[in-house]
Amino acid sequence: MASIVVVGGGVAGLACAWQLRRQGHAVEVLEREHEFGGRLRAQRAGAHRLERGAALLRRADGEVASLGAKLGLAPLPQTGSVALLWRGRLHSVDPTRPLRGAPHLSATALVGLARLAWQVQRRAAPPGAASPELAAALERSLGDGVLCRAAGEEAWSSWVEVLLGEAGGVAAADASDAFAHGLLQRVRAGLAAWSFEGGVARLARALAAGLPVRAGCDVHSVETESGGARVRYRSRGRSHSVVADAAVVAVPGDRVAAICPKLTPDERGFFEQVSTRRALVLHLLLEERPMLRATRVLVPRASGIDVSELAVHSDPGVGHRVRVELRGDAVDRLWGVRAEEAEAWLRATLEGAPLRLPPATRALLHRFDSGHAVFARGQLERLARFANRMERSPRLAFAGDSLGGPHVEGAVSSGLRAAESIEREL
Ligand SMILES: Cc1cc2nc3c(=O)[nH]c(=O)nc-3n(C[C@H](O)[C@H](O)[C@H](O)COP(=O)(O)OP(=O)(O)OC[C@H]3O[C@@H](n4cnc5c(N)ncnc54)[C@H](O)[C@@H]3O)c2cc1C
Repeated sequence: MASIVVVGGGVAGLACAWQLRRQGHAVEVLEREHEFGGRLRAQRAGAHRLERGAALLRRADGEVASLGAKLGLAPLPQTGSVALLWRGRLHSVDPTRPLRGAPHLSATALVGLARLAWQVQRRAAPPGAASPELAAALERSLGDGVLCRAAGEEAWSSWVEVLLGEAGGVAAADASDAFAHGLLQRVRAGLAAWSFEGGVARLARALAAGLPVRAGCDVHSVETESGGARVRYRSRGRSHSVVADAAVVAVPGDRVAAICPKLTPDERGFFEQVSTRRALVLHLLLEERPMLRATRVLVPRASGIDVSELAVHSDPGVGHRVRVELRGDAVDRLWGVRAEEAEAWLRATLEGAPLRLPPATRALLHRFDSGHAVFARGQLERLARFANRMERSPRLAFAGDSLGGPHVEGAVSSGLRAAESIEREL
């Protein structure tokens, strides 16, 4: 039995710690916030339970599904209707066959979409970050803009960009064509959403049950050598240090280099180039149910509205609420404002759109500094070099969605892989 410190109590770190503990190791998780879960965390607001970050899973999320089954979590299909806001109207869409088209598309756009679907099927590329070598080879052979040209401007801007956002939370501009290819493979499996009974964040809670997770520990240094690891952190204004046989760093990729001073050049080179986008989610608790024709409304960037998605939740005996994910300029503009100001912005932005919201009793704004992992051109190549690096820091492994893909599935699979890699080394 070895002692292992996992830094970061997001779903990647928790999946890793859970797996190591099952293998009989003594594991401790150090989490900076007052609660674990990271971007997979729910919060109570009165009787409401709000998903702060990740809210939905997809058919392609097989590793999450099998982990959930091992943890005894019941999967729950999401049954509400989905619509697309386009040119001032709501169009119902079928999330089970997204690459077959959507009702707002012209005949020409449908032909473009079929061409794109054929390209994606023909190459049968594996999902990007899960097989970085193959994805990097695709990145080398595929120039950027190829997929957009295949689909044509209308299909791309009014539909495919939405699908990329749905499959990975990324803006199309932040995804190389090779990475978009991987995301479209996820889309091919269908975008019908599911969750766990009680919400997606139950996954984090179930993983953490029985694990020693120490909250409020801000780790500022992780150093390892062949004999073991030393982790230094601050908690309640005091400095602490813990020694273990090995460490796993599972903080967002753009924070790794800052807390690991002794990385090998290949590791440092990789983590210094990881980038993420900030994210903002606004929740409004509503006085009554909004008169909307859909429970989830997707909004293309080309509509000029800086909202990517709006979801209505009505919980019997609890009340109604809406969850809105902002994007683009709005995230930067509203980053520091109070939730009520963000609400006023939202209402002004939706003026004229068929998305009238009743008055709210409360507004809550959730900020994510490292919200979405970016996989722009070059990132898959760097990830492949990182995965095959010759020189590795001893007794140290890494996990997080920058390594596995910008979704819960990517984070979980990176965590399970990190557990394997530590196990091999010990
Ligand atoms: C708004 C939003 C919506 C999303 N929606 C979906 C969705 O619907 N479906 C989906 O599959 N994915 C979604 N995602 C993506 C998904 O949430 C993430 O990919 C996943 O949760 C990342 O998990 P992680 O463990 O890699 O990182 P994180 O969840 O960020 O965990 C890292 C942890 O490390 C901690 N930490 C950081 N620095 C330190 C330090 N110095 N010391 C100690 N601890 C530290 C952090 O506090 C955090 O708890 C969404 C993301 C966002 C932001």
